[in-house]
Amino acid sequence: MSQFYPLFIGGKKVPARSDETFEVINPSNGKVCATVAKAGVEDANEAIRVARETFESGIWSRVPPGERAKMLFKIANRIAKRAQELASLETTQSGGTLRRTMGSDVLQLAQQFTVTGQILNSFPMREELPSIGWPGPSVNVIEREPVGVCGLITPWNFPMILAGWKLAPAIAMGNAVVIKPASYTPLTTLLLAEIFQECGLPDGVVNVVAGPGALVGEAIVTHAEVDKISFTGSTAVGRRIMQLASHTVKRVTLELGGKSPAIVLRDADPDLVSEGALFATFLHSGQICESGTRLIVPREMQDNLVERLVAKASTITIGNAMELTTGMGPVISKAQQNTVLNYIQSGLKEGAILAYGGNIPVLPAALAGGSYIQPTIFKNVDNSMKIAQEEIFGPVLCIIPYDTEEDAIRIANDTIYGLAAGVWSKDVVKAQNIGRRLRAGTVWINDWHMLRPDAPFGGYKQSGLGRESGYQVLFEYSQTKHLHTSMVPDVNQRTWYQLLFDSWAAK
Ligand code: NDP
Repeated sequence: MSQFYPLFIGGKKVPARSDETFEVINPSNGKVCATVAKAGVEDANEAIRVARETFESGIWSRVPPGERAKMLFKIANRIAKRAQELASLETTQSGGTLRRTMGSDVLQLAQQFTVTGQILNSFPMREELPSIGWPGPSVNVIEREPVGVCGLITPWNFPMILAGWKLAPAIAMGNAVVIKPASYTPLTTLLLAEIFQECGLPDGVVNVVAGPGALVGEAIVTHAEVDKISFTGSTAVGRRIMQLASHTVKRVTLELGGKSPAIVLRDADPDLVSEGALFATFLHSGQICESGTRLIVPREMQDNLVERLVAKASTITIGNAMELTTGMGPVISKAQQNTVLNYIQSGLKEGAILAYGGNIPVLPAALAGGSYIQPTIFKNVDNSMKIAQEEIFGPVLCIIPYDTEEDAIRIANDTIYGLAAGVWSKDVVKAQNIGRRLRAGTVWINDWHMLRPDAPFGGYKQSGLGRESGYQVLFEYSQTKHLHTSMVPDVNQRTWYQLLFDSWAAK
């Protein structure tokens, strides 16, 4: 029997009120790997009630920032201690290779808490304004306060890291949270809640409700006692969340889809580009919001580059994400596999040329239940094609030829998205200048996926609203208060009261 994971509310592991459960499938082999309590609206409401009560009690919201930073450092240590368990659970539920979850994700997660704690220690929580002459002496202080109860909704591609991106700053600024992980991948978020409790974070500060987005997610987004929503996922759901949140005028942070362009300049190193472009697209089987899925190349260099890309792509080992020899695991589900295969068909129909892949790979019988797709490369793609405009979220690279650099910049920006972009060139000054003209929140020169906890991440255009990471994220999880204290005790000296009272005219 698979292990049972209850909800986590008010520091207690509880079943759903309905007693319903759902199964989590390992996408590497299609087998059930866990059973999870399936929250409904009542469970979400209870989690929000507990979060609100905890927030108002001041048990965490009024703890000094320095003490909160210490808690983040403690959490980072504990994550490092339980790294193996976290990485293996993440691989089992999400299909992210163990090579990556162990070699990068857990380190990034721990670092997120450490760096957020460091940033918190130097963050301007309080600022005194200089005194001004009129209307009278006063002390004016600008203070940052927690927002209150934050509803966090996360996706299935990097469930552990993305939970960390939201939880670290939310906890840092003294909020209480209700987090709803994606139904495909709730396990590591539930484990994180346990880790927080082990570190001594007061019960009720972090509550986890796993359950259907349309039900539990919307219950959180529409609840009057939730002050802020931070969501990562599809642009379609992001739009709906923004609409629903408007009824209670909640603050909203959205980190949505992408169709990130990478421009190859004529002087770029072809060896670097061919490895870098595949790293940009095929890491985690292309299921990364900032994947570099449009490679914009000089027309005369296309054939040579494609030859190199195909040769390199054929060396990627596809297989069970749990094997350390695997470079590319499955996509999250059979449904996602079908979506990606349909996009491949659409590329063929629109006249793009399939240079590599395009199919389900042949794998050992033990993996027959898994949801795999070959790394796929299309050349002669026109930017107006569906495969160049829509987020596929699978291992599909579109090579788009260009004639002039102005063309390349125009093609790169011709998208509703603006999450990331890149330029490959030996002339880094030129590359940076082109990078400045690309409408994207992150631009990489000669690399990809280089995210850091101290650098803000987020989208231009329909890729989102607000920023995660960096000191900027602490503004997203706090609000500003202006505290004015009058230093004029004598009512007769308050000349500005004459704006209202006639008696002042006689004085
Ligand atoms: P969704 O946007 O549907 O899911 C993301 C999260 O939102 C999940 O926790 C989901 O819950 C929840 N959710 C779903 N509907 C609602 C709702 N109405 N109100 C509140 N929360 C909701 O992504 P999908 O899993 O459907 O993936 C579809 C596509 O989205 C992918 O193919 C990809 O293109 C894109 N995507 C982009 C990501 C990114 O990082 N930018 C990440 C993941 C997906 P539940 O899991 O229960 O449905």
